[in-house]
Amino acid sequence: MAQTLTEKLLARAAGKDAVATGETVLTDVDVLMTHDVCGPGTIGVFKREFGDSARVWDPRRVVIIPDHYIFTSDERCQRNVDTLRAFANEQGIETFYDVIDDPQGRWRFDAAAGPLTSQHGRRYAGVCHSALAEKGHTRPGEVLIGTDSHTCTAGAFGEFATGVGNTDAAFVLGVGKILLRVPESMRFVLDGALADGVMAKDVILHIIGLVGVDGATYRAMEFAGDGIASLSIEDRMTIANMGVEAGAKNAVFPADRATCDFVDAAGKANGTARPYECLSPDGDAVYADTTVIDLSALEPVVAQPPDPAQVVPARQCTDVKLDRAYIGSCTGGKGSDFDAFAAIVRGRTVAIETFGVPATPAVLAHLRQATLGGQTLWDILVDAGVTMTANAGCAACLGGPGDTFGRMNEPLTCISTTNRNFPGRMGDLQGRIYLASPATAAASALAGHIADPREALP
Ligand code: SF4
Repeated sequence: MAQTLTEKLLARAAGKDAVATGETVLTDVDVLMTHDVCGPGTIGVFKREFGDSARVWDPRRVVIIPDHYIFTSDERCQRNVDTLRAFANEQGIETFYDVIDDPQGRWRFDAAAGPLTSQHGRRYAGVCHSALAEKGHTRPGEVLIGTDSHTCTAGAFGEFATGVGNTDAAFVLGVGKILLRVPESMRFVLDGALADGVMAKDVILHIIGLVGVDGATYRAMEFAGDGIASLSIEDRMTIANMGVEAGAKNAVFPADRATCDFVDAAGKANGTARPYECLSPDGDAVYADTTVIDLSALEPVVAQPPDPAQVVPARQCTDVKLDRAYIGSCTGGKGSDFDAFAAIVRGRTVAIETFGVPATPAVLAHLRQATLGGQTLWDILVDAGVTMTANAGCAACLGGPGDTFGRMNEPLTCISTTNRNFPGRMGDLQGRIYLASPATAAASALAGHIADPREALP
């Protein structure tokens, strides 16, 4: 039976030759990831169902990454991290990317003490989806389950990756398996290459605009076509990341040489390498539908509030005045995102308050080290008037407590490189969020209104 890439991945994990769309299969899980928001709840269910003295099925396959509400004085948020730390110590989970190095210590956020990343947290890894890849936990052929809806990001590496709730995650903790209904697949054939000023974010916003926020509900989004080779690994992560904004169960790219190079390097650098298998869809696999996208014909777009499917060309929104710009998150706070942003604001000054949050400490290091025109990216951003933080993490992408960096504490209009623009997502319920690529966010920050980045390219 001809198989899509998702069907092949699930068949492999279920120990079967093939699976059929709609079939429910019990699959092995290669990696379970959780974080500070859902981890404590998952641990609670695990202990309730398996017992207080229960052990996780395999501590080497459990990855715990506190990242959401880290840099806050909110005690409930800090308690969540304490819960993760205690559980990691109890279970011998070494892939716990703690915010401190002292396993006995009780860390408390102190803004006056300066950036945590440079003082204490050598293990701290930043936003989970970026960190999973950087630390070598994403591999072709595997099944990665996470307690976060944007776990689909890891589909960029040719694996089945999806977000689940605390109950499912607790079951995985106990037995290392999960029941999954095999989704039908939508195929997106990417042809050509993006024009200057058009980014991967524009690709996925274009797709979500086409299919709607529920157009891929419990379906797999499978990417194909020659255009994939023109997209970097980070581009593919941006696209896979937002598959869930169309309701997708997972989003997946076939692995290629670039994928393997990235995975091999990350595994080697972090001591997390293990053998993996690159799978490909069969040529005669059956898809729910196929959409061909000429990458060269795409233009910069924004998603207007209140949801990511309200997609229009940026050039049609120049009358939208902005109060704020924000660059950050697993979608738009990676190294290449800041590269694009810095290239546009270099030597210029933003017209509105603009916040920048590196997704991970590795992105922060990139900003401190990479140069453009003899200046580091960090200095370019600061000189342009961008308020930067060295505290890498989710920050205001999910609003968070009132003292969260960049949070919208009043009803502002913001252009953001994040992935959701629902009411209240970045704080104030009345705030209006326009989702955009880093290039569009940069051009708009300079203009004070939504702008087409092609007119601001250096
Ligand atoms: S950066 Fe935003 S979307 Fe990504 S994991 Fe954090 S809160 Fe979720």
